[in-house]
Amino acid sequence: MRKPIIAGNWKMHKTVRESLDFIRELREIKFDTSKAEVVVCPNFTALHEAGQALAGSGIGLGAQNMHWEKQGAYTGEVSPAMLQDAGCRYVIIGHSERRQYFAETDQGVNHKAKAALQQGLTPILCVGETLEEREAGQTEAVVGRQVKGGLEGLESGQVTQLVIAYEPVWAIGTGRTASAQDANGVCAFIRRTVAGIFGQDSAAKVRIQYGGSVKADNIAELMDQPDIDGALVGGASLDAAAFAKIINYR
Ligand code: PEP
Repeated sequence: MRKPIIAGNWKMHKTVRESLDFIRELREIKFDTSKAEVVVCPNFTALHEAGQALAGSGIGLGAQNMHWEKQGAYTGEVSPAMLQDAGCRYVIIGHSERRQYFAETDQGVNHKAKAALQQGLTPILCVGETLEEREAGQTEAVVGRQVKGGLEGLESGQVTQLVIAYEPVWAIGTGRTASAQDANGVCAFIRRTVAGIFGQDSAAKVRIQYGGSVKADNIAELMDQPDIDGALVGGASLDAAAFAKIINYR
């Protein structure tokens, strides 16, 4: 059985104070982490304090990006060990905003996946097609290339440790969600792609999230799909009450 994982990606939002206020508010609301792993991903400057505020809550801490090198002359970058030191257990890699605005490539994402796993962090590896690509019938070609590129050279034991997030770019922050069946179809395709490289056993274990305008009113239908094992939530994860409703989707 794959334990669902629901992660909030706060992107470039919230100061340290605002992050702590969110966590305090969330902790005051009753939420159930027994059925799903729950993660929040604040920005770098808030990670350490957010991690301390989350202690004992059952909610994990994740970062939104990292460099793959251990240390060195990489001004402005943060290493896997630094994230772990700040209390992170998860890291989002290859988000479409990083691919689009910061020219991240499948090869870079692959370096990050390997480095994160080596450090004992769980990578949440994002893949997804643009609207143009979808309309040109290229969804599987694009997503397949991103999955194969991101996972290249991993061992089957490692691939089961990571999470893949299918996030169609046209659904991110637009209010347009893929239909649950459509999203499940691409997640099933991702699982078949993983099976083709690492075998059925590993593919059956890897968790695949859907992301793209997930909210309290569409989470249940998405989570009911057989190949969707959770959600990566942007906008709706910024408000503690809204995020709690998503966590408590059952
Ligand atoms: C995201 O950025 O990962 C995301 C899914 O955003 P939103 O939920 O706002 O579409």
